[in-house]
Amino acid sequence: MIAIEHLSKRYGGHPAVDDVSFTCAPGTVTGFLGPNGAGKSTTLRVLCGLAAPTRGTATVGGRRYRDLPNPGREVGVLLDAAAQHPGRTGREALTLAATVLGVDRGRVAELLDHVGLDGTAARKRVGAYSLGMRQRLGLAGALLGDPRVLVLDEPANGLDPEGIFWMRGLLRGFADRGGTVLLSSHLLREVEAVADRLVVIAGGRVVAQGAMDELLADT
Ligand code: ADP
Ligand code: ADP
Repeated sequence: MIAIEHLSKRYGGHPAVDDVSFTCAPGTVTGFLGPNGAGKSTTLRVLCGLAAPTRGTATVGGRRYRDLPNPGREVGVLLDAAAQHPGRTGREALTLAATVLGVDRGRVAELLDHVGLDGTAARKRVGAYSLGMRQRLGLAGALLGDPRVLVLDEPANGLDPEGIFWMRGLLRGFADRGGTVLLSSHLLREVEAVADRLVVIAGGRVVAQGAMDELLADT
């Protein structure tokens, strides 16, 4: 399970994240909803060991990301889909990631197929990909290590409605098999159909959290 406890992160004097606490349980999708600049990416970056907290902790199964025995295999991360090797083909990028993770390269073709990047798409340079295709490739990368936890920052950005529908099914299936999903978005419609729980953040602070149906009944 993911636990964010009294997490604060300041840049200069500015609090990007201010005393944020929430948990994500196995078997659930948690939607992390808030406008641009709310502090979502900062929270996810601390969780994935890419930034140090000013205060508080962010852990997976009770451990900080970098203290996990095999973080790259245990936590699937998609933080910035736009930033992927533009010069490689999708297949090359994923094969490289598999090598780094020590994952069987046989999984690459299977995953490319799973995310809808088979055939010609897999042989195209990532630099020629649309953002939606990069999201699909990023999701394949996040799934490579067969993780129990997925941390996804705005994965629906750039996906078309069919892609959003497809990703919803994929994430729902992942959670229904016992996985833990933390899914950020600035759009309610991208999370409402898939999330069990919602954590709403604004100005670095959690302004609401709870079961999706309860929260939406109140609005
Ligand atoms: P979100 O992901 O919800 O759009 P962010 O976590 O990216 O929000 O940003 C939260 C706040 O922190 C914003 O005001 C942003 O400008 C600031 N911020 C984020 N990263 C940095 C950084 N590396 N240096 C300075 N300020 C940052
Ligand atoms: P830097 O490289 O900026 O010094 P570090 O990653 O070394 O940052 O971490 C600085 C401090 O933050 C250390 O005391 C570290 O233990 C702590 N820290 C880093 N990540 C987390 C986390 N996810 N939860 C709690 N403490 C953390």
